Amino acid sequence: MIHTLSAHQLHQKFLGGELSAKDIVQAFLKRIDTYDNQIGAFLTVFHEKALTKAEELDRKLKNGEKLGKLAAIPIAIKDNIHIKGEFTTCASKFLTNYRAPFDATVIHLLEAEDAILIGKTNHDEFAMGSSTENSALQKTYNPWNLKCTPGGSSGGSAAAVAARFCPVALGSDTGGSIRQPSSFCGIVGYKPTYGRVSRFGLVAFGSSLDQIGPFTHDTQDTALIMEVLGQHCDRDSTSLPLPSDKIELNASLQGTKIGVPWQFLEKLSEEPKALFNSGIERLKELGAQIIDIDLSILEYANATYYIIATAEASTNLARFDGIRYGQRSQKAKTLDEVYDLSKEEGFGTEVKRRILLGTYVLSAGYQNAYYKKAQRVRRLMVERFTEVFQECDLVATPVSPGAAFEFGAKKDPLQMYLEDIYTIPINLAGLPAISVPNGFTKEKLPIGLQLIGPQKCDARVIAAADAFAKASGQSPQLPEIATQE
Ligand code: GLN
Repeated sequence: MIHTLSAHQLHQKFLGGELSAKDIVQAFLKRIDTYDNQIGAFLTVFHEKALTKAEELDRKLKNGEKLGKLAAIPIAIKDNIHIKGEFTTCASKFLTNYRAPFDATVIHLLEAEDAILIGKTNHDEFAMGSSTENSALQKTYNPWNLKCTPGGSSGGSAAAVAARFCPVALGSDTGGSIRQPSSFCGIVGYKPTYGRVSRFGLVAFGSSLDQIGPFTHDTQDTALIMEVLGQHCDRDSTSLPLPSDKIELNASLQGTKIGVPWQFLEKLSEEPKALFNSGIERLKELGAQIIDIDLSILEYANATYYIIATAEASTNLARFDGIRYGQRSQKAKTLDEVYDLSKEEGFGTEVKRRILLGTYVLSAGYQNAYYKKAQRVRRLMVERFTEVFQECDLVATPVSPGAAFEFGAKKDPLQMYLEDIYTIPINLAGLPAISVPNGFTKEKLPIGLQLIGPQKCDARVIAAADAFAKASGQSPQLPEIATQE
């Protein structure tokens, strides 16, 4: 079964001549064509382009030409990342017909290593949400239970990997959008240190929070993809001037100090808490030393995030004015109407809510009370994390307060925002963090464990997650849809 193999296995079988790139691509395209009508992960599928690239790779292999590290690995891309000439809809009516004029740096890096781009995935409009229900284009279903959302905002990428429509997908994470859907879909999701992966060509939401990262079946694939994506980029002024990480897997956790903010986790309900505790036990069995840390300041993380992220979003989305990109209202008769009506028609409710909130917290009368104060609290959180990382090597928390929820379960936006309580602080502090599968609820819904490291210690986080995942001794479990040929 080609589709159950992980990226590194596919790559090896391709190099060894056991599978051609064409076999691989055809197998995944067939699965998307057969099953994605049930899942709704993809907005676009690159049938022809993927096959052409596969044939080119088969030719190269036959001629003994040099092949990249990701040769023959199909990868799906969240639809807020530019691929030249293809649509970048941001899952918004505003951009339904917008084609990217250039490649994002991550696309350039993947293609330089001979990855095969297979399609673009659904998400919450402009990456605002935690369930993919805010997509203006289609619904995405959780492969583990079709009554549930896949999480969000990068729900399409997570669902695509979980359903084995591709071994790897990229997403973006501003407040949890890679880690939370990974937890909901039972796969590995990684948010790098802020600045580790170039944001050039990612449609900006909260520029000081956004990071691109991978969804994979296993931690070995996370390491493989991060070695390719974690590069300095001249076109992103926030890109870290560092060489790419060498990630050593199969490391031991013996003596690693892992901090757990027990007090901050008090409100966690019973079942997620029990699963979290069993994850902590597994870390102990691996030799890690668990210590109690104080992160009570994170109580303010949501309030802080929803000021800073909306402020940045309102500024970033000002460029969608009806003139430069996408939607222009046909009803507009004056310039003001072009601005007003294009936004009115093009943006969904959540996007409008964030623009209004962001504009408000940045307005002259309220900037000091809200925006500047939030920036100060953010600084305190960064400092607290710095102190905490003097006591321990890593921090462990749940990824979200529970497993996947049903469609429509969180109608009140504030309730939806609470989903992000454990993921948001990580973006505020610019830290690297991973969601790694940590068991199932009684309803057979997966749940992840979050491991967090100090800034720039991406390799440490991935290595620890690798040790944790391998300790279960099991290969990743599959939802039923992924077991079907
Ligand atoms: N759920 C959070 C929000 O809606 C995070 C989204 C994200 O990480 N893109 O802002």
